[in-house]
Amino acid sequence: MHYYGTSSTNEAGHLTIGGVDTIELAKKYGTPLYVYDVALIRERARGFKETFEELGVTSQVAYASKAFSSIAMIQIIEEEGLSLDVVSGGELYTAIQAGFNPEKIHFHGNNKSREEIEMALDYGIGCFVVDNFYELDLLTGICRERGAKTSILLRVTPGIEAHTHDYILTGQEDSKFGFDLQNGQAEKALKTALNNQELEVLGLHCHIGSQIFETTGFKKAAQKMIQKLSLWNKEYKFTSRVLNLGGGFGIRYTKEDTPIPPSAYVKDIISEVKALMSEESLAMPEIWIEPGRSLVGDAGTTLYSVGSSKDVPDIRKYLAVDGGMSDNIRPALYDARYEAVIANRPEAEAEETVSIAGKCCESGDMLIWDLPIAKAEAGDILAVFCTGAYGYAMANNYNRITRPAVVFVEDGSAKIVVKRETFEDLIRHDLPLYAHR
Ligand SMILES: *Cc1c(COP(=O)(O)O)cnc(C)c1O
Repeated sequence: MHYYGTSSTNEAGHLTIGGVDTIELAKKYGTPLYVYDVALIRERARGFKETFEELGVTSQVAYASKAFSSIAMIQIIEEEGLSLDVVSGGELYTAIQAGFNPEKIHFHGNNKSREEIEMALDYGIGCFVVDNFYELDLLTGICRERGAKTSILLRVTPGIEAHTHDYILTGQEDSKFGFDLQNGQAEKALKTALNNQELEVLGLHCHIGSQIFETTGFKKAAQKMIQKLSLWNKEYKFTSRVLNLGGGFGIRYTKEDTPIPPSAYVKDIISEVKALMSEESLAMPEIWIEPGRSLVGDAGTTLYSVGSSKDVPDIRKYLAVDGGMSDNIRPALYDARYEAVIANRPEAEAEETVSIAGKCCESGDMLIWDLPIAKAEAGDILAVFCTGAYGYAMANNYNRITRPAVVFVEDGSAKIVVKRETFEDLIRHDLPLYAHR
């Protein structure tokens, strides 16, 4: 099996993470349980940040908090000196409650509301990543009402779609996000923003995809953006102080995935940007990136208890666990793949192939198809790896299943950082039509 981060086995033959026995964790906190390897989060964060420092490039590495937002998580990001992306009032609120420095918060999203914009201005966030003309108007108007100024990046779509192993060049991108770079929208947005004294245009932003394993797409996007920056420098005397190349750095979910380390992404992208800027005789901007998945994805493991099973002779064996699409909707939503082991004997040889089913009333509620695994029975603990990104963040109460607890482990100790929901939590906002009869 592949051990992530600090994962290992102990004398009892149990899977450990952060020096803590996962079977003990399951006993103490119940299942399903999200377990995060904090040392691995720190290692990933430093991998990005320190590479910029070594290269002498001014940067901001902003954690895309949509991947997993909680107070404790954001405190780790602050400790590691990263910046933070938020995409909603709720994520912003969480960041502020965690004590995160608002100046290092960037606000994303394609439909920010007036309330969200006002809240962000009240807190004094670092910048808005402006997505569209409606937002440009709304933000300018609100700043004008308050006699305030704010910094912005313009989100552009450079006509590059990056996927795991390749990228596609498209003339115009069919995306709900951003100003199109090719058809003049981005230029129009820039002119509008430069004419509004409420807005300080720091530079351009793009985000070309997710779970990307190579740097060609990032470099192509940088090239498209820098070509425009060169034109706009001549036309409008505009200097982009910031070039934000987004997130999307890939991670290993299964043995088919072959990501490169954070330092390799950064080095390769930076050398291209440096070359392009010097070709255009432009000063090197600050480089911002926005990793989400690659900071927390492989640091997360979900522990489940195995329950019922069902044999469909000559077809497959289903093994059901006590969670499913309520705590991890990615397999149902994106056909996402995972690997898993029996946490009470991770080193046992795989003896059969089973499909791991969730407990929701939905045939599509499957976590893993056709997983080779040791013989498992009711009461065993199943550890599904690499669930740290977009797992808990997308958890829901379908079937009125309570959301799991989240535990951080580091240096042999465990700390609960999100409590398991209770049935009382589930009806907290329900109001009765009648008094109990
Ligand atoms: C989702 C998103 C990210 C993070 O993507 P990952 O694939 O998790 O790294 C970064 N920037 C923007 C604008 C995003 O929408």
